[in-house]
Amino acid sequence: MKDKDETTVADDVAANSLRTFAVETRGDTFSNALRERIMKELIHFHLVYDETAPDLVISVGGDGTLLQAFHRYLSGLSHTAFVGVHTGHLGFYADWTAEEVDELVESVVRKSHNIVEYPLLRVAVSYSDTNELKTYLALNECTIRSGEGLLAADVLIRGEKFESFRGDGLCFSTPTGSTAYNKGLAGAIIHPSLASIQLTEIASINNRVFRTLGSPLILPRHHHCQVKPVNDARFSVTVDHLSTLHDKVKYIECSVAEERIRFARFRPLPFWRRVRDSFIG
Ligand code: NAP
Ligand code: MN
Repeated sequence: MKDKDETTVADDVAANSLRTFAVETRGDTFSNALRERIMKELIHFHLVYDETAPDLVISVGGDGTLLQAFHRYLSGLSHTAFVGVHTGHLGFYADWTAEEVDELVESVVRKSHNIVEYPLLRVAVSYSDTNELKTYLALNECTIRSGEGLLAADVLIRGEKFESFRGDGLCFSTPTGSTAYNKGLAGAIIHPSLASIQLTEIASINNRVFRTLGSPLILPRHHHCQVKPVNDARFSVTVDHLSTLHDKVKYIECSVAEERIRFARFRPLPFWRRVRDSFIG
């Protein structure tokens, strides 16, 4: 029976669909050597190395390397497919081992693969002194903290005030990011076929004065959540591994993005099996 675990958008991808490729590496000696080997073999089979608009991006390293690759090739998301080779421990985004590289190369050359698409998080920062709107896409999550000290912010869901937050910060994660920082914040693990974002608290203060929900909250597509400063409008925001500081913030809005990330699947890889193998053993 066909594995229905993942949303497959193209069952029979046309031959020749993977003509160009790029390789992102973690940068250690072993990953770099593997990168050279993959490049040599794929070029031998007439694929073209292209860092501007590759059909396939092969990430060699860990999940962090795939996050790095995602942000580097962000502008071609509707076109580029990603695949990860892990050179350390088992990864969530990096599902091929170094020993399996020949098999991966052969699969790429044979071009028989499925494309699976996973949801992303859209983050939009609006300011009180300009009309500028800075937008970001996260593959794992976004965290919002104060520029200094405690975060004091109102949380609005679909434009309506939900709670007044006091604490270290807030984390909005994607389904595939639910196994990362979100898990450390006691968030739920969300299957990536559910287009949703999860809000978790980072050390909230709960007493007779301040009260927050205290539980992780999962929002469906089209429900946006805004974080508005109460006094101090200087926010420190992380998007995956990247951090930025924002002054005079009016609000930060998080929602399920229109864009999705595309992964090239050369063999089935059930999400729950990956969760089990990573966390249970
Ligand atoms: P890092 O400090 O190397 O990453 C921390 C760990 O998270 C690494 O073991 C990384 O795997 C793993 N990881 C990344 N994405 C994952 C995912 N979707 N599911 C399960 N594990 C995942 O920095 P990084 O590699 O650039 O990764 C940035 C991510 O670190 C952030 O997006 C955030 O999720 C996570 N983080 C977690 C905490 C926490 O749990 N307290 C705090 C800060 C950041 P690899 O070793 O394979 O790269
Ligand atoms: Mn890492």
